[in-house]
Amino acid sequence: MNARALPVGPTCAPCVICARASRGFAFSQPQDRKATTFHFCSNACVEIFMNARSKNVTLTPAEDAAIEEAAMGAGRYASATFGHADLAALSKAEYLLYAAQLVTLYTEALRRLASEQVPF
Ligand SMILES: [Zn+2]
Repeated sequence: MNARALPVGPTCAPCVICARASRGFAFSQPQDRKATTFHFCSNACVEIFMNARSKNVTLTPAEDAAIEEAAMGAGRYASATFGHADLAALSKAEYLLYAAQLVTLYTEALRRLASEQVPF
């Protein structure tokens, strides 16, 4: 048997960038056990994927929770202060007050969540 005669076929998974058959390039998020594995046909497609991925911000669960808490609190602040929560209707000065409240609530929530996780 001649090993050279055996065809070296591509994997079944298509490249996530160009849909050509993948050829041994793959990526999965190592911290996530349920992570999807992305397959690629070439280094060029890996580079496109990584460039696009590096532009995405992956939030931590604490950041997600803090954003939700801050958004709800800022909405209540806008309703109580301006009589409504229609951001498009706010003046620039009102919008800056709203944004400052949102940022303040976000950082307070992050600090509180972090303090709840400190093991000492
Ligand atoms: Zn490709």
